[in-house]
Amino acid sequence: MRKHWRWAGAALTAAILLTPPPADAACGSPVALQILGSGGPIAEGERAGSSAIVWLDGKAVLLVDAGSGAFVRYGEAGVRFEDHLAIAITHFHADHAADLDAILNSGGFSERIAPLPVIGPGGSDYFPGLRDHLHALLDPQTGAFRYLSGYLDGSDGKARLVPVEAAVDAASVVFEDVTQQVKVTAIPVEHGVVPALAYLVEIRGRTIVFAGDQNAMSQRFVEALAGRRPDILVAHNVIPEGEGQPRGLHRPPASIGEMAAAIDPKLLVLSHNMQRALVHQPEGEAAIRRQYLGPMVVAGDLACFAL
Ligand SMILES: [Zn+2]
Repeated sequence: MRKHWRWAGAALTAAILLTPPPADAACGSPVALQILGSGGPIAEGERAGSSAIVWLDGKAVLLVDAGSGAFVRYGEAGVRFEDHLAIAITHFHADHAADLDAILNSGGFSERIAPLPVIGPGGSDYFPGLRDHLHALLDPQTGAFRYLSGYLDGSDGKARLVPVEAAVDAASVVFEDVTQQVKVTAIPVEHGVVPALAYLVEIRGRTIVFAGDQNAMSQRFVEALAGRRPDILVAHNVIPEGEGQPRGLHRPPASIGEMAAAIDPKLLVLSHNMQRALVHQPEGEAAIRRQYLGPMVVAGDLACFAL
């Protein structure tokens, strides 16, 4: 339970005590995954854009994506900027990265001065890579938020961001902390013209795979994970089965089932849940079930999973 409830007096009755969601208990586990934002790019309800935290001994050691709205969930979950070992962004669509600047802005008020690795894909003709993205935000002359440029060099009391630009043509280890037993491998995935990554997070003997936004042609990703049996596979529930959907960007449910069957996680967590998929959820889950028979859950914002 990381939300801090402060009471002005002792006279409050049990009836108005806020009961934390039961899922929060899982976040107190030594290793846990918390979905901060379980939604997609359309503002269509209570779901923030894509974002998740990996907790280790009560510390938010890894932030994966910071989509639109993640900033609010970050605060609600009690995440501390000081505790991050790294931030990893899967790709530079706004529903995955728009609140990175808001979180850096917030972190500027923290005590953190230790350098902070920020991981993301390299660029292409169509998209800036991680370094260009950070400079577009933070460059002291041209950055949109140039007042935060201390993040580029560690000046002005800011933590220096250490950019780790991952190759988008082969899997690579992008972060390792031997003491904490945390290792992150970036695995390229196919997401139209967008340079995009999945992340394999190995943490104290547990494994979480963030599949990210990917289409059905991401076979190299599946092959890279064959035989690993991760504890959790986070897959994105973006489009329903059937025609007329943007399959160049995302896997339809049948393809999620195929991917999950091949990777064989102990738990499949569906996130990035868009209404167009959710309104057909029974058919979507049936399509996944044709191939994958293991445990599966549709995540909401702030949902926690113990590992
Ligand atoms: Zn997305």
